[in-house]
Amino acid sequence: MSLITVLQEGLYCEPGGFFIDPWRPVDVALITHAHSDHARSGSNRYLATRISEGILRKRLGDSVNLQGVEYGEKIKLGDTWVSFHPAGHVLGSAQIRVEHQDQVWVISGDYKRCADPTCASFEVVPCDTFITEATFGLPIYKWDSGEETCRKIYDWWQADLDRPSLLFCYAFGKAQRILSELRKFTDQPVYVHGAIHVLTEIYREVGIEMVPTIPASEMARSYKFKGDLVLSPPSGHRSSWMKRFYQPQTAFASGWMAVRGARRRRGYERGFVLSDHADWQGLVNTVLQTGAKTVYVTHGQSDVLSRYLNETYGLHAMPLRTLFEGEGDI
Ligand SMILES: [Zn+2]
Ligand SMILES: [Zn+2]
Repeated sequence: MSLITVLQEGLYCEPGGFFIDPWRPVDVALITHAHSDHARSGSNRYLATRISEGILRKRLGDSVNLQGVEYGEKIKLGDTWVSFHPAGHVLGSAQIRVEHQDQVWVISGDYKRCADPTCASFEVVPCDTFITEATFGLPIYKWDSGEETCRKIYDWWQADLDRPSLLFCYAFGKAQRILSELRKFTDQPVYVHGAIHVLTEIYREVGIEMVPTIPASEMARSYKFKGDLVLSPPSGHRSSWMKRFYQPQTAFASGWMAVRGARRRRGYERGFVLSDHADWQGLVNTVLQTGAKTVYVTHGQSDVLSRYLNETYGLHAMPLRTLFEGEGDI
């Protein structure tokens, strides 16, 4: 029997009596991180890392029954031992290790291997069976460091100080990573959309250092944002909110900017390749480092990655069909 199976509600562990990142309400839900395709409301009881509590309460509601656990802390659930380990994806993100009798499974959630000053680095957790994501599971995906990409963002901003620079990025994780990396190049304030502001404040509360930020909505109607950098979630693009900014230059920061034509199709002048997921080599290296002999692949390019792991390394790898959607809402 398999320790983790896919039911209608999500990934289920029968001996533990819990689900991981369920997409429907259940009794006990373990949450890897607070992105909307992993943390859904309506369950009776939640367990997640202590450091992700602030964001989860913002997303699931203050009254949610949520138990915060430390990274590495072992908890007994049913007949299993469970622990959360850093995934390097966003603040508080975790892989979940499940031990039952002589079997160890690790469910990766979303993860990356590039350095990120806003979250704990990915930890390799040895296991027999590894469930990995594969959002960017094609050999064409190869990331520069966040620092390098944010240097390009800074240069783009500074190259045109006659108009506002509007940078679109996912509000949770990506925005704060950019604001933190920018400290290496400037201490000027950056203006932010309200959706980014509330999450950025939670990052500050847990001690993540970022450049100063000002909600754009606090500025007088007459203020022109000339020469300013403004961060907005993708939903702000071509919205009435954008009318605030006179003839801005626009850019989008996302792993999807590595796909030919994606920037133009979405109507941005510039694209910066910045992802909070592992690139191809990051995925392959991680799978090998865990020592797992059996690998299930979810998200995105599950067929390509599992075939490669089978043929090149003789692993028992196969796609696992789930409802996870990839990089947030973009
Ligand atoms: Zn995610
Ligand atoms: Zn995901």
